[in-house]
Amino acid sequence: MKTEYIILKEAVLNNNCPECYSKESLLLSFKQRRQFSKFFSKTRGEIIESMDCKKCETTIFPGRWTDDIERVYNYHKKTINSIPSGIRFTRSFYLLILIAIILTAALYIFLNHPELFQQ
Ligand SMILES: [Zn+2]
Repeated sequence: MKTEYIILKEAVLNNNCPECYSKESLLLSFKQRRQFSKFFSKTRGEIIESMDCKKCETTIFPGRWTDDIERVYNYHKKTINSIPSGIRFTRSFYLLILIAIILTAALYIFLNHPELFQQ
């Protein structure tokens, strides 16, 4: 299974980075994880939040947040529309089901009406 991340929201904050003090370098992102294979994809309900400074390339963990950062974070968090968790089947999956139905139907006809297949 492959994993991809769906970005729900990304925002560059106006706040100073607690590590390098540069402005407009903090990137707050909200993501959801989706795993997929040939036949289905599965979305996880859990939202992965992260804050990274693009300047000093540090991940800013909540313990390092200032009150201002926390306020901005809470504001953005409220605007997030998460994707419901669940499984979605792909076109290949439905194609496989269709082929199975056709084969079953063919087998059924063959077993019940063998005369149709005789010359
Ligand atoms: Zn920084």
